[in-house]
Amino acid sequence: MRKINFISVFLAVSILFCGCADKKDHVYEDKEWRTNIRSVSGIEPYEDGVYYKNKNDILCYFDTSSQKATVLCNKKGCSHEGKSCPAYIETFGMPDAANDSLYYLSLEGELTRKKLDNTSEEKIWDMGKTLRKEMGDETSISFSGYIVTGNYVYTVVRIAYTDEEGAYKEREELHVLDTAAKKQTVLETVDASKETLEILSAKNNITYYQAQNAYDKDFQPETATEEEWKEQEKKMNTRVCRADAKNGGKEQVFELKSGFVSAATDDIGIYYNDFLGTGYMETKNLCRKDRKTGEETILKKGDITAKYMYTILDAEHIVVQNEKGLGEIYNMKEFEMEAVVAQKEYWVAYPVKGGYFCYAPENEDGMVWQYFTEKEIQKEGGNAVMVKE
Ligand SMILES: [Zn+2]
Repeated sequence: MRKINFISVFLAVSILFCGCADKKDHVYEDKEWRTNIRSVSGIEPYEDGVYYKNKNDILCYFDTSSQKATVLCNKKGCSHEGKSCPAYIETFGMPDAANDSLYYLSLEGELTRKKLDNTSEEKIWDMGKTLRKEMGDETSISFSGYIVTGNYVYTVVRIAYTDEEGAYKEREELHVLDTAAKKQTVLETVDASKETLEILSAKNNITYYQAQNAYDKDFQPETATEEEWKEQEKKMNTRVCRADAKNGGKEQVFELKSGFVSAATDDIGIYYNDFLGTGYMETKNLCRKDRKTGEETILKKGDITAKYMYTILDAEHIVVQNEKGLGEIYNMKEFEMEAVVAQKEYWVAYPVKGGYFCYAPENEDGMVWQYFTEKEIQKEGGNAVMVKE
């Protein structure tokens, strides 16, 4: 289960020093690795609860101890529907809960911080403005996939521009903002016609990210034949790098020829799958490379298992679909199975404090988030999540 701890002693000390007159940022430190899973899952577990979007894209908080959900809106008479509700969340706009705050990064690169109850917006930094100063206002800049950990904010920026010869170019950059030093640094730059960037994990000043081959220029996914897909699959190479935001240093720690990397941290190593070669991005074996020994191990020999069946829950868990079509939840530190999810009824389940948060059918017309304690899940048997005994 995910635990995000930060050092409250540091917090208390820095409040004393700051005296509130000069509002400096506190020194925070994460003990756990963090991922950007909330942009895929739409949930963000934090301490005793879970932040999630309801059916109307409204931000809610579920407290696992009281088992009560709250809409995070304080507007009087609000119907909590649509953009006029302060708790409305844009697509991919799920905030990152860290350091006793909710952090939002807009597509334009404006970073804001709110209290955990989603009130009192405070602008921290304009990452886009910093860039546009350099590049000029004509440049198109978009931000995606960010992680807040300790005093650092990591994000991938896509920049479209015209070069000196008038040619249209796109590049991707991995940026890190040190909120304490108020300093924005570029850790990696790639030509977007050749590679794309994705942050895999981060913990304070350390981040793992991957650079994956882009499709060939003339490749058309909509109309491609099986043979053309096979060609692209063969070329889907991935570089995994580890960077240090403190000194800007980086090293390539892994390279995968034709496969898919799903997770990497100092603790779990690098999790990856090699492709089966069918052209459908189906993967063969689930493997791990140990960071200390460099040893590569096959953890699970594959039947035909599609890429999307390997879902990262957080920096510690992974779901592997077994031959019965059930999702097995493994802890990646020891690669031990913790639970089995019956994917037919509950096609996604995330371990949170005291149980599982499941996206499941409420009735015939919709799926909703539901919380099952470990006890309840065991009672439900075959149709829900069964915790391994
Ligand atoms: Zn509202």
